[in-house]
Amino acid sequence: MVSKVLVGVRTGQWAALCLGLLTCSIAPIASAADCPGHPDALGTSRTLVVDPKAHPRIGTMQYAETLPLRDHEVVLTFDDGPLPHNSNQILEILASQCVKATFFTVGSMAQNSPEGVRKLREAGHTVATHTQTHPIGFDKFSPERARQEIDEGIASVTAALGEGGGLAPFFRPPGLRRSPAIEDYLASLGIQIWSADFPADDWRHIPASRVYDLAMKRLEAKGKGILLLHDIQARTVAALPSILHEMKARGYHIVHVVPATSQQPNTPTEPLQWQLHPPSETVAISHWPTIPNFVYAEAGTLPAPSLPGSGFNDGRPVSLAEPFDRTSRRAHGVLLPPQAPWPRQSLPPLGNAANVLPVPAQNIFEIQEKPGAPVQTVAPSSRHAEQVVPRAADARASLISVGASVPRRAIPGGPSSGRARRAGVSQIATHRTQLAAGAGRGVLRH
Ligand SMILES: [Zn+2]
Repeated sequence: MVSKVLVGVRTGQWAALCLGLLTCSIAPIASAADCPGHPDALGTSRTLVVDPKAHPRIGTMQYAETLPLRDHEVVLTFDDGPLPHNSNQILEILASQCVKATFFTVGSMAQNSPEGVRKLREAGHTVATHTQTHPIGFDKFSPERARQEIDEGIASVTAALGEGGGLAPFFRPPGLRRSPAIEDYLASLGIQIWSADFPADDWRHIPASRVYDLAMKRLEAKGKGILLLHDIQARTVAALPSILHEMKARGYHIVHVVPATSQQPNTPTEPLQWQLHPPSETVAISHWPTIPNFVYAEAGTLPAPSLPGSGFNDGRPVSLAEPFDRTSRRAHGVLLPPQAPWPRQSLPPLGNAANVLPVPAQNIFEIQEKPGAPVQTVAPSSRHAEQVVPRAADARASLISVGASVPRRAIPGGPSSGRARRAGVSQIATHRTQLAAGAGRGVLRH
């Protein structure tokens, strides 16, 4: 079985793998209106069907494109499982809210708990892969070794799913550590790489209340997007009910993402919808100025455009309180993969600059005001920076951190400011109390 899968992956497209092994069955369409026994559930508002080949790399933490979500739409993703003790609780919480998510499962974890992978499918979630062993430094692997990790992860999860299939052609690199070789190989297989739009730092040694705070603050800042979580973490189990409750209270909607198949065509979209915040009249433009169509009497060269007052070269290195690459650890008697390492600041090759943004700087979460706020400067906003396709050396700048003159909200954990902070403070305090109480009962294990 495994060898057949590997042959299929190495020699053909994902479609061939789907056809040969019946692994790409259609995920059930969820409905927000249908959550028996849970009338106040958050629900799943719609199912988004995507074509991985048309959009091979998504997630604004690293790429120019992300899922074509509407304002206040969220896609939940959970990495590193299944780990029964915690993953089962995550599944129960999601079921109680009739929420569908995408799980990036690790091959070795699937081998340890094949029934845990099948549970994901049977609950209607999307099952994707995350390498075989969740290696450290995946971006530094030789192409051959990276392919082996990818192939074996797919084979292990496919084997766990069995004849019922259901593996989606979605992949997330461990620690978001991508490389051109990894990206090219996955594209050759028709597999979509998922980065994320914002994490909640639930792999770090922080309280569940902090996970909740970060998830909501970063969601409020972006207005929509792909949330990166980990179903193996007890703090995520503790925080998730409050996160979902608060999402409903603030009017957010959950979107379930499935791959297009011959029986289920992709949801029609426009190219601009694949950008987190397409240009609008209410936000200062971030494009290079168009050269006017004038005729110059002596125009040997035209002046190069410049971006006045921007922090365009603000490519400060990531500085984190704790390292992310760690050796494997044990919990509940099971060998866990290394904790998800945070992506390091790295410089993409120039040839790749047209479709790759630098990995996020620490200040990615220094959030500016929403588009409705008054525009106080003509400098490019950090949001639009996510869409800018820079040239040459400018590609090396941290595009996500431009716009130093644009007003920002506080960094999570920093001094409080902003409307959302004031509006949500009482609710957050309530949840903090609840979560702290949960921790006191031993909910938190890390
Ligand atoms: Zn991971």
